[in-house]
This record gives sequence, C-alpha cells and structure tokens, in this order.
Amino acid sequence: MRIARYALAGEDPVFGIVELEVDAGQHPDTVAEITGDPLVGPVHYTGQRHHLSDVRLLAPVIPRSKIIGVGRNYAAHAAELGNEVPERPLLFFKPNTSVIGPGDPIVRPADTDDLHYEGELAVVIGRIAKDVPTDRVGEVIFGYTVANDVTARDLQHSEGQWARAKGWDTFCPLGPWIVTHFDLAEAGDQQITTTLDDTVVQDSSTALMVRPIADLVSYISHFTTLLPGDVILTGTPAGVGPMHAGQWVSVEVSGIGELSNPVVDDTPAGDSE
Ligand code: ZN
Repeated sequence: MRIARYALAGEDPVFGIVELEVDAGQHPDTVAEITGDPLVGPVHYTGQRHHLSDVRLLAPVIPRSKIIGVGRNYAAHAAELGNEVPERPLLFFKPNTSVIGPGDPIVRPADTDDLHYEGELAVVIGRIAKDVPTDRVGEVIFGYTVANDVTARDLQHSEGQWARAKGWDTFCPLGPWIVTHFDLAEAGDQQITTTLDDTVVQDSSTALMVRPIADLVSYISHFTTLLPGDVILTGTPAGVGPMHAGQWVSVEVSGIGELSNPVVDDTPAGDSE
C-alpha cells in the first residue's frame, strides 16, 4: 500500500490509500480516504475518493518523537567530503519541527551560504522497539518514504555538532507517501536519484549503503527506544552540493516516488540584526 496524508482546500489533514494507474490519463491516480491514523490503529475506508491531482499532499508522517539521521553511510559520499567511513554508524537527531511536505518550500536561513540537498531513503517505524535483533527489524518497520536531509554545510563544519546545520525549520522534506509493501531486501535495492532543476546530481542505489537498514535500525534501537512514527534517514549517496533560491530539488526512490520542493531565501521581517 501507499499511504498518503493530504488535505483538501480548507479542510483538516486526513490519511488515504493512493492507487496509481499505469494508464494515467485514462484512469487518473486516486486517493481513497481512510479514518484515523494508520500508525496508531486499524483504519477503514470512508468511501470518499479523490483524484490525486485535486489534493494537497502533506508530509506522510509527523514524528511525535524523533528523526534520527545517519552520517556517512555511503562510502563514495564520505570520500567526497574528505571523511572516512566511521567504525560505527554516526548518528544525529533532527527535530520534528524540521518536517515539511511535498511542494513546501525549503527556506534557506540567512545564517548559511552553503545549503545542500541530501537525497535519502527514510524508514518509518511502526512499533515500540528496543534492542531489536537484526533478523527481526522487518517486524518493527511500518514502511518507507523519501527524504531530503537538508544540511547547512558551512554550519556543519564550523559548529561542534549538527543541531543547527541539520535541524532548522523546513530542513526535512518527507514524502510523497509511505510505501508499506517493501520488505527489507526490496528497500535495500532501489535506485535513488536527486535532480536539481533539470540536472541529475545524485544517482545511486540503496544497495550501496555501508550499513544496511537492518543493521542501522538494530544499532539505533540499542541506544534509544523507537516509537511508532519515528523516522530514520539512512544516509545520502555521493553528489551532494548546494541549492539556491529559485531552484527546485527532487529526490526520487524507485518503487516509492518523487519528493519535490522549491528553495527560497528567508526574508527577515523588519530588523535582521
Ligand atoms: Zn544525510
């Protein structure tokens, strides 16, 4: 299934099941509304159905608890920034307030002159999970979506830790929906592509992760309890680089979909120091 969170003009967000038609045009893509939150409990169809083009897609999950990122999980990306692949996964947090949805603007704060995209596969946790053995990780995953781990590269280098570099509002686009039908093997063998306007800037495969998804989730669950709705960003492949106001950045993971966002500059209201 593909589970989307969306809103019709002037209405509250709801969840729905996306049904993609291969012969788009003849039978347009639709979304069938469901009751409640599929991460929380059983859901039912309400009978309402809309053309996908008529709804505004939102981030498919707003983590109540946490987003955990993994640094340097593709060897070619570690090398391009002059880093070694760490002996253990290098982890960081992004606040849930950094999440935005498809089409929402990524806002460059005035504090950075080097705003980078990082296309990533995101794992959405579905169960309370602690000390999960690698061979049971599949049981705690709700599904997969696409993320852009937006990073102020200059702040990442100049500050001791990455809270500001990766945690600013709008620095975590997620979407377009959550795919629940992948198993770990499928999630770990998808093409991942980032496009800046019309230029492909990252083109890799989730098969090239240094630590595969099962290892990452197991490792993370040994230090912190994972909760339903937590999101794990699995690292970015090579090709990171700057993006500027006026550009559109799109991250696509095959089998899931494409997440596109425009970039804008923060326009300080009144006194800008
Ligand atoms: Zn990243």
